[in-house]
Amino acid sequence: LCYSCNAMKSDRDDTDFRQMNNAYEHRENDCIFCNVSGDRIIAENELAFAIKDAFPVTDHHTLIIPKRHVEDYFDLYQPERNAMQRLLEECRQEICKKDPSITGFNIGNNVGEDAGQTVMHCHTHLIPRREGDVDNPRGGVRGVIASKQNY
Ligand code: 5GP
Ligand code: ZN
Repeated sequence: LCYSCNAMKSDRDDTDFRQMNNAYEHRENDCIFCNVSGDRIIAENELAFAIKDAFPVTDHHTLIIPKRHVEDYFDLYQPERNAMQRLLEECRQEICKKDPSITGFNIGNNVGEDAGQTVMHCHTHLIPRREGDVDNPRGGVRGVIASKQNY
């Protein structure tokens, strides 16, 4: 409960949530996404930021990243998920404005090395797609197991 909600229910809850704000500050020295320089950030809010992928799958491939160092999607707190969701929507709008050739997107998180994760700081891929960019796009993210993409 926040201060206001707790007061409204007559202060019956004595949990101290002030430590939560400290948790959001957690960074790791040797993590590339904890040390992104400000000039590479294309969008930002209080808990998350967006950068262009250095090795884009398609033009405007963007990464949405929580500021707190957490390994994967399932470690996120709900406010971080909300912050990332807002950035996903903002970035999608901006990208579509810049590039009208975009006709679709793949949105995805790799969770764990076995699922393909290479940077162990949570991030969501926003990958623009264009009509004809592959011969047969059917199945999309099912393509993580290439032989099962088309069904
Ligand atoms: P993962 O494989 O962990 O899901 O995705 C890591 C992503 O980070 C890859 O798409 C890769 O191209 C991108 N990447 C790796 N190193 C850097 C970097 O130094 N800067 C940026 N902007 N992207 C990076
Ligand atoms: Zn990190």
